[in-house]
Formats: sequence, C-alpha cells, structure tokens
Amino acid sequence: GLVAATARMQRRSRDLERRLQETSQEVNQLRSNLEKVREEAMTDALTGIANRKRFDESMRKSRRDADLNGTPFSLVLCDIDHFKRVNDTYGHQTGDEVIRETARITSQLVRETDFAGRYGGEEFVVLLPGTTLDGAAQFAERLRSSIERQQLDYQGSPLTFTISLGVATLTDDMAGYLTLLERADKALYQSKEGGRNQVTLSR
Ligand code: GH3
Ligand code: MG
Ligand code: MG
Repeated sequence: GLVAATARMQRRSRDLERRLQETSQEVNQLRSNLEKVREEAMTDALTGIANRKRFDESMRKSRRDADLNGTPFSLVLCDIDHFKRVNDTYGHQTGDEVIRETARITSQLVRETDFAGRYGGEEFVVLLPGTTLDGAAQFAERLRSSIERQQLDYQGSPLTFTISLGVATLTDDMAGYLTLLERADKALYQSKEGGRNQVTLSR
C-alpha cells in the first residue's frame, strides 16, 4: 500500500543522496589530483623550481602585462661557468648539487612578483616585470656575486663556482618574445667571451 511505497521512495532517495555525495567526493579528489599533476608538470624535478613549460607561460603573461600597462619588463639569462669541468672533476652528483644550489640562491633573491626557472640543463632564466634594464642589471650583479661567494662542501674541501649572465629589457619596437630571449642570450655569450663570471647588458 501507500505506506510501503513511501518507505521505498524514502529509501531510494537516501540511496541517491549517498551516491551523489560519493560522486562529488570523487570529483573533488580528481580535481585535486589534476591540480597536483599540473603543478608537477610545471616544476623541475631536480631543483623544485619552475621548468621551461612554466617559463613559457609566465613569459607570455609578463609580456602581455607589459604591453597592456606600458611597464618595463626585463629578462636575465644565466649559465653556469665551465660546468662540464665540474661534472668531470667532481662527478655528476656534485654537478647536480651545483645546479640545485644555483636554483636555490636564484629563487631566494627574486621578489614575489618575479619569476625564476630552470631554462635548460645548467641554464636559468629570471623574469623581472616592472623592472628597467638598470634594475635588472643590479639584480644580475647581486645574483652573480651571491653565487661567487657560495661555498659547497666537496669531501671536506670548499667548492666554489660562478655563472655568466645576459640581461635584456623589452623595448618599444616590435621585438617579439623570442627576440628578448635572443638578445639576453647574445649578451650571455658576450659574458662568456669576456672571461665569464660577469654580467652583460643588451642595449
Ligand atoms: P661554459 O662556461 O662555456 O658554459 O662551459 P660549460 O662546460 O658549462 O658548457 P656547456 O654549457 O656546453 O656544458 C653544459 C654541460 O652541463 C653539458 C651537460 O653534460 C651538463 N649538464 C646538463 N644538464 C645537467 C644535469 O642535470 N646534471 C648534471 N650533472 N650535468 C648536466
Ligand atoms: Mg649551457
Ligand atoms: Mg655552462
């Protein structure tokens, strides 16, 4: 009769509600897993800082903001000096340690609104939104000297290393984002040519 039918309906409704709740829990779990995977895909496994993928994203956004607001935007490219020698002399594990140390110091020096990432093997890139060539040059010099002063321990002996840097800033002309990178890369190359452990500005 009616009583039995009502009881059946209430049971069914409770069932449905329970299943809905389970589904929503599963969706939340999936969402959080996805977020974690996305985060991992953007992070460099060796150093824990941003990887090239996140750099590309950050670069696009910084450029757009700079164009929109007419604010300056600078880029610093860094490359560890004689890194092959580090690997050959002290082994790859120490080489990895040097890369990690460089990443740690670089990300410690940047501001909240800046971006620091591992660009390639032993190359790093820093984006400085709202920063002129002068400001970026000051930052680059601070980074250079911090790295130079850093001492790692290699079997009880101090191990030091240096980096070369290239700095470029966005100009009013139609310089695309590759051009900014290319200019920083040229400047970096000049730093190497000039004897390494130095900062070169692209003007
Ligand atoms: P330069 O001063 O001209 O930059 O000399 P370099 O020896 O650093 O020259 P180069 O950039 O050609 O060498 C980079 C080397 O870094 C090549 C590669 O064997 C090594 N390398 C790249 N990625 C890694 C890594 O993740 N770990 C270690 N241990 N070595 C790496
Ligand atoms: Mg290199
Ligand atoms: Mg190198």
